[in-house]
Amino acid sequence: MEFNIALVKGDGIGPEIVDSAVEVLEVIGKKYGHTFNFTPYLAGGCAIDACGEPLPKETVEGCKNSDSVLLGAVGGPKWDTLPGNIRPEKALLGLRAALGLFTNLRPAKIYPALAGACTLRPDIIERGFDLVIVRELTGGIYFGERGRREGKYGPEAYDTEAYSVMEIERIARVAFETAMKRRKNVISIDKANVLETSRLWRETVHRIAAEYPEVECTDMLVDNAAMQLVRDPSRFDVVVTSNMFGDILSDEASQITGSIGLLASSSLGSGKCGLYEPIHGSAPDIAGQNKANPIATILSAAMMLRYSFGLTEEADAIEKAVNETLEAGVRTADIVGDSGATPVTCTGMTAEIISRL
Ligand code: NAD
Repeated sequence: MEFNIALVKGDGIGPEIVDSAVEVLEVIGKKYGHTFNFTPYLAGGCAIDACGEPLPKETVEGCKNSDSVLLGAVGGPKWDTLPGNIRPEKALLGLRAALGLFTNLRPAKIYPALAGACTLRPDIIERGFDLVIVRELTGGIYFGERGRREGKYGPEAYDTEAYSVMEIERIARVAFETAMKRRKNVISIDKANVLETSRLWRETVHRIAAEYPEVECTDMLVDNAAMQLVRDPSRFDVVVTSNMFGDILSDEASQITGSIGLLASSSLGSGKCGLYEPIHGSAPDIAGQNKANPIATILSAAMMLRYSFGLTEEADAIEKAVNETLEAGVRTADIVGDSGATPVTCTGMTAEIISRL
């Protein structure tokens, strides 16, 4: 099969880690008989430098016309003092909006070989965890009506949360479909004891759950979920939640894995085209030094194969090679911990993974 992939390398370590993922995809292409065509586009700080804006029109058009987008990271101190509307981060919001990406999928799992980096107690880690957070990305309080006004106690500010049945239905379906490919368990997180939007959320999720009798679906209040994630993450398979709750819980979930350089994410819309990126930033402190951990971006590429291209076997092969590389004790500097291993470079880690494909 043939796929067109837009590469948005971005800033800082972005180019190094995207190049690593491209190398891996090229090997997969050869091995399984696929052609991946890569077209680079500018976004973020490098686009501000080259064209005076963080998200040039050609980038939006190129990404829209591709089968999927692989993104490194954007931003850095060089652009930190620019006004909000021309900051590098604008490129991310702009791309998500242009591609109609309403779902963010963020897996968080513990790698036994890296259990030492996990902040949880050994008896909790022993049970292992492998969960995915399905976060609604384009609705809720981050996009609701907001403003400043004169209130009962003087000047005040307000933000409003609104969710339509349609928005909840479509994110719930993504969660149930994801669960069907995993352990068939969905936990829907809300604050239905207080919020009306959460009551509608719960009602709607239950209605969609009836379409997936094989999937077990339960509700959990967000405050309890925040506790359960650190108390017993093994009980979660697929978590579905609103934009703000998902923002907070997905950061909590990634933190408990103890390894930011390993975590991938994908943003999806109603079509097959998705945006795949590591969850970390552009790491300006190590940019250009060949020290970055490429695993999160390589795993993002694996997610692209799985979720946008339907290439399950190929995605499995990448994930297995990453696992085996970690099991073999290969470490970049960020995950050396107290292992005593001599850190490998970004290109070194990439070569080790490729050698196991
Ligand atoms: P960061 O994730 O870039 O870095 C935090 C720390 O983790 C740094 O010490 C960094 O060296 C390390 N780190 C991150 N990724 C790594 C990797 N793959 N390998 C090894 N070490 C890694 O977060 P930050 O320092 O808060 O932000 C730096 C810049 O990135 C900022 O301009 C920020 O706005 C931007 N940012 C971009 C995105 C994105 O593009 N999606 C996300 C977060 C932050």
